[in-house]
Amino acid sequence: MNKKIRVRFAPSPTGFIHIGNLRTVLFGYLFAKKNNGTFIVRIEDTDQNREVEGALEKVLEMLQWINIVTDEGVMLDSNGKVLEKGEFGPYIQSKRLDLYKRYAQELVEKGHAYPCFCSEERLNEVRERQKTEGEAPKYDGYCRKFSAQEAQEKIANGEKYVIRMKVPEEKTITFTDLVYGEISIESENVDDQVLIKSDGFPTYFLAVVVDDHLMEISHIFRGDDWLSSAPKLVLLYEFFGWEMPAFVHVPNVISGNGKKLSKRRDSVSVEQFKQDGYLPEALINFLALLGWNPGKGETQEIFSIAEIIQKFDLAHVHKAGAVFDLKKLDWINAQYIKKLSLDELYQKSLEFLAQKDFYRNASDDKKTEEYLKKVLTIEQERLVNLSEVGEYNRFFFTDIEYDKEMLRWKKITDQELIESLEKSKTVLDEIPQENWEIKTLEEKLFAAAGDKKGDLLWPLRVALSGAQKSPSPMELAWVLGKSESLKRLYFALAKLK
Ligand code: GLU
Repeated sequence: MNKKIRVRFAPSPTGFIHIGNLRTVLFGYLFAKKNNGTFIVRIEDTDQNREVEGALEKVLEMLQWINIVTDEGVMLDSNGKVLEKGEFGPYIQSKRLDLYKRYAQELVEKGHAYPCFCSEERLNEVRERQKTEGEAPKYDGYCRKFSAQEAQEKIANGEKYVIRMKVPEEKTITFTDLVYGEISIESENVDDQVLIKSDGFPTYFLAVVVDDHLMEISHIFRGDDWLSSAPKLVLLYEFFGWEMPAFVHVPNVISGNGKKLSKRRDSVSVEQFKQDGYLPEALINFLALLGWNPGKGETQEIFSIAEIIQKFDLAHVHKAGAVFDLKKLDWINAQYIKKLSLDELYQKSLEFLAQKDFYRNASDDKKTEEYLKKVLTIEQERLVNLSEVGEYNRFFFTDIEYDKEMLRWKKITDQELIESLEKSKTVLDEIPQENWEIKTLEEKLFAAAGDKKGDLLWPLRVALSGAQKSPSPMELAWVLGKSESLKRLYFALAKLK
């Protein structure tokens, strides 16, 4: 069988896209790309009560940001408008309602589904009784007893109803998952699932089967929290007489404390990672390694998306939940930041700087491209994410204020401190503007300091930064420029006199 590989991501527009969810999407995408397949986005919006305004656009925006390219289905055009592309549309379930009704009707006619007229009240009673008897909650099959004609009469009389699937008795349902292997479940543990609700909308179970079939989906990638719904889908495929796509249930992402990532406890929306200054390439790299490894003995950890696609293999997807390790993400992100050209880093940093008060309030000479590129040259090696730009070195943008005691190196006297700062001032003053480079600054300052480096360099460093911790005084002086450096030295001396 040489079936075309078609993988879909089927989000419900009920909220933001969760990082664990994105990891599952990524695995499906990698699998599709590895096998020259098609990656499709379908929107499952049949639960209209849970729909959140703008959520659909946000999900699509995040896919675009992270460079997961949709081949078919729902996507954004260049103006950010939602668009559908492909021969299997519509790709938005609320536009396909008639279809689901037709297929549900087909199941009723074949005897695999039946209308159920039970009231909410009766269903609650059944549930309560099962609870007190220690049974798992399940519909008791009451409405199975009506003949087709009786059911027709009730419907004609305007009785409200849903359509339920008729789960066969005493049947072992078996299917194979490409991660979990063969799974069997007895039909007595499977509920007569509602397929069409009383408002005429399908439930997830019917819609997903009809659409995956009609859209010729070859592999269903889902989070393993959906595993328990698989037997119902398997039965529906059997009822319709359709070939089952392959199941690939991907293990959940769990937080460091061993629990499933929680929206409340953990920072989990993809958008949050974007706002925190993680690069999409780094996030992809990190997510690909969450629950998958590129093979035994492989020690490389930084992979481009092209490399990941080339190496991706379902045989290396783990069954155990993958632990979300923020330290690892930080490390990977830092590696990607180091690899950026100065120009790229500058372009990407601007939107993050623009959000910071210390930057907005800085004087214009501290916002020029040349000045910012100097700051970034110093920071690039140390940055973990882009929202940190300037954050720990605010003294590059603001006036500084500090206690004069900070200037003191070990136990040197006020007089020695003044001499040290005077010496730095003379050294800096003598370096011509055109030689204002870190290397020259190092040469001259080291020569002047002799073997008492701390005596000269500590007071200078504090005078330039006003901070306990900062880059070296040479780096500081280079970024600040000659006149600002001298100005800060005068300021320090003034504190001592
Ligand atoms: N619409 C489901 C969701 O909201 C998708 C489940 C599936 O992929 O089958 O996650």
